Amino acid sequence: DFGFDELIEAQPDAIFKLNALYNQDEDPSKVNMSIGAYRDNNGKPWILPVVKKASEIVEKDPNYNHEYMPIAGFGQFTKAAAEILFKPNDHLLKEDRICSIQSVSGTGANFSAARFIAEQYAQKNGAAVYISNPTWPVHRTLWESVNVKVETYPYWDAKNRRFDFEGTMDVMKSAPEGSIFLLHACAHNPTGIDPTREQWKSMFEALLARKHLVVFDIAYQGFASGDLDRDSWALNEFAKSNKDFFVCQSFAKNMGLYGERTGCLHYVAKNSTVKRKMQSVLCLIQRNTISNPPAYGARIAAAILGNPELFEQWKEDLRTMSSRINEMRSHLRDSLVALKTPGTWDHITDQIGMFSFTGLTPAQVQFCQEKYHLYFSANGRISMAGLNSSNVDHVAKAFDHAVR
Ligand code: PMP
Repeated sequence: DFGFDELIEAQPDAIFKLNALYNQDEDPSKVNMSIGAYRDNNGKPWILPVVKKASEIVEKDPNYNHEYMPIAGFGQFTKAAAEILFKPNDHLLKEDRICSIQSVSGTGANFSAARFIAEQYAQKNGAAVYISNPTWPVHRTLWESVNVKVETYPYWDAKNRRFDFEGTMDVMKSAPEGSIFLLHACAHNPTGIDPTREQWKSMFEALLARKHLVVFDIAYQGFASGDLDRDSWALNEFAKSNKDFFVCQSFAKNMGLYGERTGCLHYVAKNSTVKRKMQSVLCLIQRNTISNPPAYGARIAAAILGNPELFEQWKEDLRTMSSRINEMRSHLRDSLVALKTPGTWDHITDQIGMFSFTGLTPAQVQFCQEKYHLYFSANGRISMAGLNSSNVDHVAKAFDHAVR
C-alpha cells in the first residue's frame, strides 16, 4: 500500500474552474471575464495578423523541421527577446552580461528562477521571497513548491483603491537584508495598478540599500500601454543601478502565443564570467525539468523580432489590443457613471493592462454570476478583454444592481 488513498484532493484552479462554468452556462447573455486572454470585439480569440504572417514564413522555411531545440533554447529568439527588454540598456548586451534561457512561457521562467534561487541562495541563508498582496496566485504556490518561505508586501490599499506605496516601502525597509523581492514590471496582476515612476525610484533605493535580490516578472510588455519601451521602463531604471537581477518574460499576451508557451528567463550579471557560469547552472535546471523548450512559438517570435517590417506590424497589433482594452475601460466607467451607480469608478480607467480590480465584494461577484451570468474572480478582478461593445452595458447594469 503506497498510501495514495489518503491523498487530500487538491482544489481545482479557481480561474480555470470559472472558465469551465462559463462554458457550461447556456444563457446567451453570459460574459467571460475570468481568464487573462485577449478577445476581439466579437469575443473571439485573436491571432495577431503579424503572428499569422510569421507562422507562414516559419513553415515555408526549407530548413523547418521538428528537431529538438538546444537546452538553452533558440538562440535567435532569446537574443532578440533580451534586446526588446533591455533596449535602453543595450550596453548590457554588448558587454555580454545578459544570460537568457528560453522557458515554458512566463510560468516556466518564474519556476526556473525560483528553483535556482532556492537551491543556490535561499536554502543557504534562509531568505524569504516577498510577493505583492494580492498577486498572480501561482507566485505563492510556485515558490512554496521549491520550499522558499513566502512573505508579502501590502500592494493594494482597498479603502482608497490605490497602490499602498507606504506599506510596500515599510516592508522593503524592514525585511531582513538580502531578502528576495518579486516585482510586477508593469500592468500588475490582479490590480491593474502600477507604481508611479517616482515611487519606483524610491522602491529601488530601498531595495538596493537593503541588498535585496530582485526578480521582475514581465508578462505584459507592450500589451499594457501599447508601447514596449514604456512598459519595460521600471526594470531598465533598476538596471541602471548595476546590481544583478532576474527577469521572467512571457510572450503569451503580447504576441497572443498563449498555448505555444513562449518565454524567457534573463539574468543580468555583473560581468560576462558570472553570466557564463549562470548560463551553465540554469541549463542544468532546464535539462532536469523540461530537457529543452518548445520550438514553434520561439520560431514565430524570432521571425517577428528579427524582421523590421514584421516588428513594426507587431507594434501596430499591440496598439490594436491595448487601445481596444482602453476603450472598454472608458465605456464601462461611463456606463456606470450614467447609471449613477453608487461609488467612484475612475479606478477602472486609471488601471492598466489585462485586468481591472473593480472593488466588488465576493458576495457582489456571486450575485453577478447568479443573476447576470458574469464569470469573474471572487476578488472582484475582471479580465478587460472579456468586454466588447455588445456586452459592456450588460456588465455595467449587473455591477449597478450588485452594489445597490
Ligand atoms: N506572471 C504574471 C504576473 C501573469 O499574469 C502571468 C499570466 N497570467 C504569468 C506570469 C505567466 O503566464 P504564461 O505562463 O502564460 O506566460
